[in-house]
Amino acid sequence: MVGVLAVQGAVASHRRAFAALGVATTEVRSPADLAGLDAVVLPGGESTTMWHLLGTTGLREPLAQALAAGLPALGTCAGMILLGRDLEAGRHDQGTLGVLDVVVRRNAFGRQTESFEAPLAVAGLAPGATGTPEAFPGVFIRAPVVAEAGPGVEILARVGAEVVAVRQGAVVATAFHPELTTDTRVHELFLTAAGLRGPAPAAGTSASTSTGTSGTATP
Ligand code: GLN
Repeated sequence: MVGVLAVQGAVASHRRAFAALGVATTEVRSPADLAGLDAVVLPGGESTTMWHLLGTTGLREPLAQALAAGLPALGTCAGMILLGRDLEAGRHDQGTLGVLDVVVRRNAFGRQTESFEAPLAVAGLAPGATGTPEAFPGVFIRAPVVAEAGPGVEILARVGAEVVAVRQGAVVATAFHPELTTDTRVHELFLTAAGLRGPAPAAGTSASTSTGTSGTATP
């Protein structure tokens, strides 16, 4: 059971992505909703608002504790901001849950490029229907970047020199919005990192990319 933090943000799209993978989800709105979760998703939205609502719902402490105890987590955009250890360009009253050893810079792409799409090479993705590594459609909306990453953090993707996807054990974070595409490979990568799924299938076996057709099965 994957819990999607539902205090604010792109909740339904994440639930749809996991449903497409046959994974059950539930919404997390109060501390009691954390019970029995195998993983949690912190969606995109507005990190200042989400941080505030984590306080008023009483979720902040129990969620931080569950993450510190090893609850696997996927954070996208504002969710990545919330997972990090420290912030650049954060608002003065905004904090983070500190489970991912990164410094995240908010709104890093500036006004001119507030929203854009970029094809991304993401390390560790299933190869796609054709068996060749297909670019992942990166949707960026007032996106942050990873400004600094600790030694235990694996860099999964960049836009130019900027780090936009990372993994540290069972915690995966992206500056972009995989839930706003029909490509479920980042969600699959997360399930694998969380130990909830086997490793990505060999070339030619994935049926879950945006092109959708399945390749020749390899045992
Ligand atoms: N800029 C937003 C923030 O700081 C994040 C934007 C998003 O999640 N799409 O929270």
